Amino acid sequence: MAVRPIVVWPDSRLREPTKAIAEITDEVRSLYRDLVDTMYAYEGVGIAAIQIGVPLKMFLVDARVAGQAEGTDPLAFINPEVVGLSGSRQRMDEGCLSFPGIYVPIERPGHAHLRAMGLDGKIFEAEGDELYGRCMQHEFDHLSGKLMVDFVGPLKKRMIKKRLEKAAADDHVHDDNCHHDHA
Ligand code: ZN
Repeated sequence: MAVRPIVVWPDSRLREPTKAIAEITDEVRSLYRDLVDTMYAYEGVGIAAIQIGVPLKMFLVDARVAGQAEGTDPLAFINPEVVGLSGSRQRMDEGCLSFPGIYVPIERPGHAHLRAMGLDGKIFEAEGDELYGRCMQHEFDHLSGKLMVDFVGPLKKRMIKKRLEKAAADDHVHDDNCHHDHA
């Protein structure tokens, strides 16, 4: 229903504790629509509610990434929990809507198994490898305030901060809207 502004690191709202969603209300459905619109507007393949400043336990994964048909609505994960992480660890560049233009190589288990509530109120399980497994882990991290910069050393963290500050200042001057990140 609306594209909402993305909360960009180091905004402290990204570290806020998130609350469980008790039931699927119209408000939750409306939040879902806003997340869909925002994720597509910024060309992401995943988004967590906290990234638009709503500290609730909910994230979305693009349908194609989740192995569903193109044109299917993004998959909603509400109150998710990790059932298990397995497989050999893989290192891959990750992006994040809250770190526009930044990519960081992050090592994670290759396979993720999560349990969550869907938008229909039913509990489902999701298992995925490669991009899907990685995307679920990345979005799940957001719900506990864990971010890409928590995987890097202090020097790299400072570099990322500088680059984001510079990009924000440039954006201000040119209103240059270039977002091409994935989660
Ligand atoms: Zn992210």
